[in-house]
Amino acid sequence: MSLFENIRDGKEPATIVYKDDYITAFEDIHPEAPVHILIIPNKTIKSLNEVVDDDVDYLSHILLGASKIAKLRGIGESGYRLITNCNYDGGQEVDYLHFHLVGGVRLGKMINLPKSSKKKMKE
Ligand code: AMP
Repeated sequence: MSLFENIRDGKEPATIVYKDDYITAFEDIHPEAPVHILIIPNKTIKSLNEVVDDDVDYLSHILLGASKIAKLRGIGESGYRLITNCNYDGGQEVDYLHFHLVGGVRLGKMINLPKSSKKKMKE
């Protein structure tokens, strides 16, 4: 079983902030903003690349859950960002589909390319 499967199933400690039939949400262990929550589908899906038509209920509940959790955490009005990283270029480190809900502070530019990538774009 993978890390996020174990968190989902209550076999690995995590601060669960929301759970329903479709999704589980928990605090990111290394928060990068005052609010940094991970939202995962309760079905094991490796990344956004792996979703199939039958997964639409999981995906819609992730969006609904993100909006609910943001309001519960008091960042609905101030604003927030929902991010999923896919594969190497996307920066995905954990092979289980997850969405980062971040907020509680003015977030910077959406994409902050490293110098090496900026150089590649000019080539
Ligand atoms: P990503 O780079 O999109 O795959 O993000 C993986 C995220 O999982 C990172 O923000 C990590 O801080 C977070 N993470 C890793 N292990 C744990 C854990 N045991 N509990 C909560 N969050 C975790």
